[in-house]
Amino acid sequence: MSITAAHIAARMAGILPIGLGPNGTNRLAWTAEDAMAAEWFREQAEALGLVVERDPAGSLWAVPDAPGPWWAVGSHLDSVRDGGSYDGALGVAAAFEVASRLRHPIAVIAFADEEGARFNTPTFGSRALVGRLDVADALGRRDHDGISMTVAMRTAGVDPDGLAGAPAWLGRLKGFLELHIDQTTELAEAGMPAGVVAGLAARLRLALHVRGRADHSGTTPMGGRADALLAAARVVVAVNDLALSRPGVVATATRLLTEPNALTTVAEDARMWIDVRAPAGSDLDAVEAGVRDAAATAAALGGVTAEVTVASRSEAVVFTPSIRAALRAQLPGDARELLCFAGHDAGILAERIPAGMVFVRNATGVSHAPTEHVELADAAAAADVMLGGG
Ligand SMILES: [Zn+2]
Repeated sequence: MSITAAHIAARMAGILPIGLGPNGTNRLAWTAEDAMAAEWFREQAEALGLVVERDPAGSLWAVPDAPGPWWAVGSHLDSVRDGGSYDGALGVAAAFEVASRLRHPIAVIAFADEEGARFNTPTFGSRALVGRLDVADALGRRDHDGISMTVAMRTAGVDPDGLAGAPAWLGRLKGFLELHIDQTTELAEAGMPAGVVAGLAARLRLALHVRGRADHSGTTPMGGRADALLAAARVVVAVNDLALSRPGVVATATRLLTEPNALTTVAEDARMWIDVRAPAGSDLDAVEAGVRDAAATAAALGGVTAEVTVASRSEAVVFTPSIRAALRAQLPGDARELLCFAGHDAGILAERIPAGMVFVRNATGVSHAPTEHVELADAAAAADVMLGGG
């Protein structure tokens, strides 16, 4: 019997209300809501005869009573601030439904702190598992209330001193599959309830620092200024033009801080961050070169200095071809694969073990907001793709 909307609804019923308020879902890592979500995870696991363990990064594992390594399915249970109902939780609910139907032993995993909404540590649990987490940096981070991650983890019953031991758990996995809400309208436009993800886009974060000269915005002649904000603005427009000139590339000037940020002063200093995502690393190289050119031109025009640095970069992820083929075989022959422009735990794991992803149609394309929505019949169809492919 194939998986139906009612099966998914029954599994989601217990997790949906946790952290749900008038502005959306708030289920941030290491909070009381996170602990309630872990309790839901435990109930789901025990009903299937799986044993719940918590790895040193706080990720939840529901493991079978059979020697590992196992294949695992899962996603995450944490949310962003004022998030939606399906990002993450749907993947864990679907994972339990898939696990309940497979004859061979399989594990279900809910990765800790995937969103990184509290400490800006996205894909925390999966990065810890593959040994790609800067442990000292993460533990020293503080949330809005000044609480360190060390204290937050300890409060949640996870020993922060054990965090560096997380990679020892990776050997328990043969591979990992994740079901997730589509965060675009791509599947909706294609008229498909579910789709196979080919890989994750390459990502680059650039930082721009412009130094000019503070001066009176009324008395300084237009020709005699060193306006840091004006130069930054030229780069904002250039970033947009660079993305438009390269198919498949998205680039955004996302954050801008100016000094002295005063109503009647020409800006002396501007710091800006630029987020670039593209199908291939070569696209990132081209955009980076374009941004450097634009910054140099803006600096020369405006009598300021402009420095561009790489804040972070991650190369494109390609999911395991044999897994993609097995999943694609569950879909119509003309179904195209998707390229994902967001980060996911499955993408982190793909660096080390076989991994794949299935997306569920999202008619609005909205995610990370309470208006995000999927039809549970579509979620059931996507879970069936995983079941058939597994
Ligand atoms: Zn997610």
